[in-house]
Amino acid sequence: MNLRFQALEQTLQRDSVKVQTPSGKISEYFGVNVFGTETMRDTLSADTFKEVMKTIEKGEKMEPHVADAVASAMKSWAISKGATHYTHWFQPLTGATAEKHDAFFEPSPDGRSLEKFKGSALVQQEPDASSFPNGGIRNTFEARGYTAWDPSSPAFVIDNGGGKTLCIPTVFVSYTGEALDYKAPLLKALAFVDRAATAICQDYFDKNVTRVHASLGIEQEYFLIDRALWRARPDLILAGRTVYGHAPAKGQQLEDHYFGSIPSRVHAFMVDFESEAHKLGIPLRTRHNEVAPRQFECAPQFEEANLAIDHNQLLMDLMDRVSERHNLKVLLHEKPFKGVNGSGKHNNWSLITNTGKNLLAPTSKAKENLQFLIFFVSTIKAVHEYNGLLRASIASASNDHRLGANEAPPAIMSVFVGTELSKVLDELEENSNIEIDKGDNMYIKLGINKIPQILRDNTDRNRTSPFAFTGNKFELRAVGSSANSASANIVLNTIVANQLVKFKAEVDALIEKGDKKELAILDVLRRYIKESKAIRFEGNGYSDEWKEEAARRGLSNITNTPEALDEYLSEKGMKVFTENGIFNEVELHARQEIQLEAYVRKVQIESRIMGDLAQNHIIPAALRYQGELIDGLNGMKNIGLDVEDTVGYETVKEITRHLKEVKTNVTAMIDARKKANKLEDNREMAVAYKDIKDTYFDKIRYHVDKLEFLVDDSYWPLAKYRELLF
Ligand code: ADP
Ligand code: MG
Repeated sequence: MNLRFQALEQTLQRDSVKVQTPSGKISEYFGVNVFGTETMRDTLSADTFKEVMKTIEKGEKMEPHVADAVASAMKSWAISKGATHYTHWFQPLTGATAEKHDAFFEPSPDGRSLEKFKGSALVQQEPDASSFPNGGIRNTFEARGYTAWDPSSPAFVIDNGGGKTLCIPTVFVSYTGEALDYKAPLLKALAFVDRAATAICQDYFDKNVTRVHASLGIEQEYFLIDRALWRARPDLILAGRTVYGHAPAKGQQLEDHYFGSIPSRVHAFMVDFESEAHKLGIPLRTRHNEVAPRQFECAPQFEEANLAIDHNQLLMDLMDRVSERHNLKVLLHEKPFKGVNGSGKHNNWSLITNTGKNLLAPTSKAKENLQFLIFFVSTIKAVHEYNGLLRASIASASNDHRLGANEAPPAIMSVFVGTELSKVLDELEENSNIEIDKGDNMYIKLGINKIPQILRDNTDRNRTSPFAFTGNKFELRAVGSSANSASANIVLNTIVANQLVKFKAEVDALIEKGDKKELAILDVLRRYIKESKAIRFEGNGYSDEWKEEAARRGLSNITNTPEALDEYLSEKGMKVFTENGIFNEVELHARQEIQLEAYVRKVQIESRIMGDLAQNHIIPAALRYQGELIDGLNGMKNIGLDVEDTVGYETVKEITRHLKEVKTNVTAMIDARKKANKLEDNREMAVAYKDIKDTYFDKIRYHVDKLEFLVDDSYWPLAKYRELLF
């Protein structure tokens, strides 16, 4: 029996798995496995605690004796939770997380042994990291890499099945200081946006603002399928997506899945990973069915961006591990199934002051709305100015299947703000004679006071916009479901900060010349609104008309990764990163190299799996069925019947035709790969692979899917879409 039927038989016997959730309310076990602020307050001396908080909140350097004290408390706490090992947990540019476990246990010369953990081991480690991607950085310098503690993200204890480990979030840098990970540049970008936004709040509005942090709430979409069926699809195992599969009779057209009742097996899985997540301090709050069959979503309460990203990385790991217990498999790929919606990771982003004010929340107070408009308009302006960089930040081989494909969001960056705010911006742009009265009258004339409360209810929605303002936050929806959100957030926070710095300089210059502050602010904003108008789009982002309109507006629409990545090395891209100390040139070149390499490998794997499956699964199955048909036709001939006008005869001919196409194209694709592999330059190789994908993937798939339709079901070796999805 082929793997498909074995798997199908297993799925018939499935029941939902009993989940052992902790007893009591969520608030009672939330964060029990986290060495967070409260635990530190309880376990550290008052002085040490104060020092640590200074490091966490203000980024001040930590004295070695403080690090020792923290390490000691952390060790005792972790051991009390059952941990035997510790690891520096980091995010290399593979997209996954990495860890290398060391035991606390240390044998001592006198034969006794102790559990030890020094401040130096907490603060810095030197993992043998030579096989992490480095884009040539470490070949030219030193083969060493360092991980360094990020005290702003708390340590946690994780149960990897069998044993527990203390995980310490860290950055990962080369011996010469270049970042080899996502976290190091992210922290720099977040510090930059903090400086830029704080300066504006302090100088123009409120002296009490001393810190502004980027907040982030990451909605995670995913597919969930039976594990046995997953195992019966080599393409899902190796490439994360199905490279073949005839469309099922029923897809998502009835829209009966979205927000529907959650199937019990899935529900058990959700409850299970959510309680694991809660113990790790991940504030998951929302779960629901998504648009496509077997597609779901979960979302946490928003947090400080660095923490939100760590939590999302951890969550993806956790979901994958927990799904195994339920005989399920989580698919985080952006486009696991052709013809049904893909998955994204919506990044809800805003800026929040230490005084608790959301700078992107419109209010009914005119003065606060002036402040809101600065951040709102500057963000739009930044996205307009650097939409290419934002596009580059979400580029990957897997997201290419989702962005710009025929059934998916386009690769065009645009901003949706809703009708009410569009009106406000239009009014502001056109109104050139502003009078200033005492009090709020000026704003009433501008209509700013009219920003209605209803916006906060998110009633004004546009699901097709890649960058939408949704009431009190911007929502970047183009990020891929499997991506590390840091990449997009490095760009977003950098370009907004850069814009805010420019804004302040321009306003200050006008004030210097004698303009009144409010007038100066409005003058600059008015110009920004004009200059960034092309990026604003309120219509259907998935329509063909938008593609044409966007081209007329001069917006770019790059549908492939190799080209999208060029933006990082453009003059403009380089400048905004290097001048603001986020990346240096070496790092930018390295990152492009790494991503091009990853792109080539991913497309190469997909191409190989297409070839393998065609050759070893599809062609033999079709030939066997065809052989059977031919036997039947011969039988008919033997008894004197005419075969030419029969279904059997027609089917044999059709199968022959499709088989020939499959074989010819697979052979040509392999030849093209051989040629591409000889190319020396990474970019050229990536483009060659992109061409291979464009030329062959759809073509081969078309004929394989036709064969799936023609061949007797009992011969077909790959689990079908209807089986995977329903
Ligand atoms: P949706 O309808 O898009 O699911 P929600 O209101 O459920 O919208 O919010 C989605 C995500 O946005 C959640 O993670 C939520 O915590 C987050 N969010 C809400 N307000 C903010 C904010 N000010 N900054 C960042 N994220 C936010
Ligand atoms: Mg959303």
